[in-house]
Amino acid sequence: MKERRQVMPQAVTVFIGCVDPRIQETLDRLRLNLGLEYGSFFRVLVQGGAGNSRQLREHLSLVLSDYRHQMVSVVLTTHEDCRAGVTKESLLEATRIVREEFGLTEVQVFYILLNGSWESLSLSPEGSLK
Ligand SMILES: [Zn+2]
Repeated sequence: MKERRQVMPQAVTVFIGCVDPRIQETLDRLRLNLGLEYGSFFRVLVQGGAGNSRQLREHLSLVLSDYRHQMVSVVLTTHEDCRAGVTKESLLEATRIVREEFGLTEVQVFYILLNGSWESLSLSPEGSLK
């Protein structure tokens, strides 16, 4: 069989969401909406999504150790009625971790709703999500 090798992409995105089965289709549509193609992103599915600070840190550390010369951007999501106790507000701490602890500036933040839609959030200068 011919060896098939993928080159390292110039830029990668870490896309983090919850494992809850109710939101998987929405996560996939969001991913496509953001233009994230296979081979260009890490799909990180963990309990609580971006609100799982320990997993967020672990995965970001792993990606950054492999891709330190590439552009790394991050998509943070949490969702409505998360059984892991994570809320929309958890995205604030997640954003802080990404920006302050990892020094990454390309961050997009989304709150997934159970009706299949999502809210795009941004961090205000006062440090709250809107
Ligand atoms: Zn959840």
